[in-house]
Amino acid sequence: MPSLCVFGAQWGDEGKGKIIDHLAADVSHVVRYQGGSNAGHTVVVGSEKYVLHLVPSGVLHPGKVNVIANGVAVDPVLLLEEIDGLVARGVAVGPNNLRISARAHVIFQHHRRLDALAERWRGEGRIGTTGRGIGPAYADKAARVGLRVCDLLDRDRLEAGLRVALAEKNSFIQAVHKEAPLELGEQLDVYGRLGARLEPFVGDTGAELRAAHRAGANILFEAAQGVMLDLDHGTYPYVTSSNTGVDGIPAGTGFPPQHIGRAIGIAKAYCTRVGEGPFPSEEHGPRGSELREAGHEYGATTGRPRRCGWLDVVALRYALELNGSDGWIMTNLDVLSGLGDVPVAVAYRRGGSRFETFPAHWSSLDGVEVEYVQRPGWTEDLTAVRRFEDLPPAARNYVEWVENAVGVPIRMLSIGPRRDQVIHRGL
Ligand code: GDP
Repeated sequence: MPSLCVFGAQWGDEGKGKIIDHLAADVSHVVRYQGGSNAGHTVVVGSEKYVLHLVPSGVLHPGKVNVIANGVAVDPVLLLEEIDGLVARGVAVGPNNLRISARAHVIFQHHRRLDALAERWRGEGRIGTTGRGIGPAYADKAARVGLRVCDLLDRDRLEAGLRVALAEKNSFIQAVHKEAPLELGEQLDVYGRLGARLEPFVGDTGAELRAAHRAGANILFEAAQGVMLDLDHGTYPYVTSSNTGVDGIPAGTGFPPQHIGRAIGIAKAYCTRVGEGPFPSEEHGPRGSELREAGHEYGATTGRPRRCGWLDVVALRYALELNGSDGWIMTNLDVLSGLGDVPVAVAYRRGGSRFETFPAHWSSLDGVEVEYVQRPGWTEDLTAVRRFEDLPPAARNYVEWVENAVGVPIRMLSIGPRRDQVIHRGL
């Protein structure tokens, strides 16, 4: 298999973890290139369930090299907890199979504090962040005042950097939010120790990936969140703080764009969204709760109930086009079994006009009316089906109809959380 990018083509939680785990068997490297530990990829291997936040899903396959590239915002506390948790369950994680970029920006305690305080300050206008300090760490990166993993490894640089950072952040925490400041000595101690533990994993991962490519490696780039949450191309400001599609790879890894290969989008057979922000095909009635229960749509990291609704062809077509995808993977088709006829969003209407393209400004989605096409549902359990032709006719018809409406072929179907619960259609 050539190198490829697997990204979420909706608002996140599309089931990327399971698909990446499935595809990881055929590659040598798996790379996370953006986002932070707010992502929660769920992978089921046999009877074991793993929720991965920062560590790439390839870690569950022996012999793969997993990379946390420079575009990821690394919280060393959570990363080490995750590594320790995997090791405790018998998963081998060491400097040979996990590499961390020296250039990745670090999330500190002050970023988490400021994230939570800023959301409180915004009140009704809150963005719905997970409060893990990811946005504030990326803001510091853009403002050129962030500290990177390489700084954690050098006590003098860490002290100098934290001194400046805390002087500014503490005055803000005290003066604006009327809260207690963070103490430099304590923070230095904590992060110095964390840096020492991470050191064996740290390297120039961009150079390592370029060298691997020259040596013929095939690399899987694993995106977190979804394209509709992309900082530039999503429903700004209700987005995440990084580029969540193929656009995030060159900057987030140091790997040249010409070598990326294919971009495969992942989308559910319906749609979910966490947090605030526009979601045109959201189902507010009882069928939304039915979808939530049938699909266990609660956050892997936060436990928050996800907003549920129907597949949105307008948004999906946009996400796939933006990433130059020549194929996508539909997940959770099994969840629709027994839920009756299935609405699919095909266009938006507003103020007398009808549109089939996703607007640049989310206010154009305010009060938008969604045009749905009802597709016949099915009642059969799909979880044991392994060949497309063995699906019940209505389910097959749903897949083919959606594929045609989106205009991009569906290369694989997922019909359950386990590794083997897939139907191949020529990936
Ligand atoms: P990710 O962030 O995109 O990896 O998505 P999550 O891991 O948050 O959510 C996917 C959830 O759906 C996890 O609990 C998976 O085990 C589960 N899952 C993945 N694919 C399927 C599928 O095809 N059918 C069902 N029923 N569950 C799935």
